[in-house]
Amino acid sequence: MNKVQHQNLWSLTAGQPLELPQFSDNSTADLVIIGGGFTGCSAALEAAKNGMSVVLLEAETIGHGGSGRNVGLVNAGLWTPPDEVEKTLGAEAGEKLNVRLAAAPDLVFELIDAHQIDCDAVRNGTLHCAHSKAGVSDLQNRFAQQQNRKAPVRLLDAAETQKRTGSNALHGALFDPRAGTIQPLEYCVGLAKAAIENGAQLFERSPVIAYAQNDDQWVVSTKDAEVKAKYLLDATNAYKSTAQPAPSFTMVHYFQLATEPLSASEREKVLPGLEGCWDTALVMSSFRYDKDGRLLIGSIGSLDQFGGRIHENWARKKLAQLFPELKHKRLDYAWDGQIAMTKDHLPKIKQLGPNGFSVFGYSGRGIGPGTVFGTSIAKYICSGDQTELPIAPIAAYEESWTKTSAFYYESGAVLTHAAFSAQRKLGL
Ligand SMILES: Cc1cc2nc3c(=O)[nH]c(=O)nc-3n(C[C@H](O)[C@H](O)[C@H](O)COP(=O)(O)OP(=O)(O)OC[C@H]3O[C@@H](n4cnc5c(N)ncnc54)[C@H](O)[C@@H]3O)c2cc1C
Repeated sequence: MNKVQHQNLWSLTAGQPLELPQFSDNSTADLVIIGGGFTGCSAALEAAKNGMSVVLLEAETIGHGGSGRNVGLVNAGLWTPPDEVEKTLGAEAGEKLNVRLAAAPDLVFELIDAHQIDCDAVRNGTLHCAHSKAGVSDLQNRFAQQQNRKAPVRLLDAAETQKRTGSNALHGALFDPRAGTIQPLEYCVGLAKAAIENGAQLFERSPVIAYAQNDDQWVVSTKDAEVKAKYLLDATNAYKSTAQPAPSFTMVHYFQLATEPLSASEREKVLPGLEGCWDTALVMSSFRYDKDGRLLIGSIGSLDQFGGRIHENWARKKLAQLFPELKHKRLDYAWDGQIAMTKDHLPKIKQLGPNGFSVFGYSGRGIGPGTVFGTSIAKYICSGDQTELPIAPIAAYEESWTKTSAFYYESGAVLTHAAFSAQRKLGL
């Protein structure tokens, strides 16, 4: 068995890094943004397009957080079904969020087109696959909810799912043609480049160590210099550095492994339509191709914690279960990332004070939502029209037991993956 390299495939296959300067001179701006992921970069782009002066400070490099590590599924809506979103937020607010996020893939693919972002965008839809018979009823329920909202989704039976995926281990699928896949790091870098072209100033390796509001101005400091700005957006989300207040969400990890490139004949059988896939399991898994024909398989779990070996072993076994003909394929790369999971699985805009906002908690669905929230906050800041926001800002947000909850997610994933591998070994 080959040794898997622990390296983020997206960093290896992305084009030239941006190599932006470090922030070193005191400056002023209309808007200062902390964090260069989808949220920060899309906000920088929209604000700069509207003539605002923008400074964005990124602690590492653009896309260092979830934005440069994810699966790359550009989904419509959240993981939480739309009825539940409306139940939690109330009918009007829930419907607004659902409508805005249902259109999120349109916004993502429009930005890709408008700014010629080279990110292997494929808009062939996604397949939410039933991993079991119970998974089929979950999909039927989701399908009914989407039909009520006139979404163009289709429920596929086991035979069609098998034809589309090349796997007979799946019991059905919900096909969503609005969705697609991207190389997420390249998308994020593309947003950053577009923001710079529109006049925003972006800095890398410039961790913010403190921020506060003085006389109607936000003062945001790195170790070398400070920015003063009327508006502040903290877009550090699950990668919030320790210099800032402790995060109030559960940190969940998600990992992926990439096979060696598959041959043309294998690619004709396995997922020939290049849809992005994920499943209905509680400890969900995902699979998709990259541009070189590597199959990426992922699930919940951290490769750096106690279950790392178990998760890697699961990936081999899962690949063999889904696609027995691929069981001897090399797994070349493995990497993981952090997800900010809120208790109700809904994103939050927290008001930090007058003209200051923090956005977090996409709960595993951040490509569309991150782009929508970043763009909308910038629009709101530019126009003063609060209806631009997909949800109303909240003054405070606290969750308790987040460390216990994180342990619950990780140990649940470890046990589930260990049990799956043991069953496969016994031929069950
Ligand atoms: C493995 C994985 C798979 C996923 N799969 C999908 C998927 O298929 N589809 C989907 O829609 N979503 C997916 N997600 C979720 C999605 O990636 C995130 O929700 C999204 O990237 C969040 O974007 P963001 O800009 O809000 O935050 P991030 O991309 O995390 O960016 C935050 C940035 O803030 C910076 N930062 C932190 N502290 C400081 C500081 N003090 N000063 C300056 N900068 C700082 C960090 O370095 C980081 O770059 C996945 C997430 C993970 C981890």
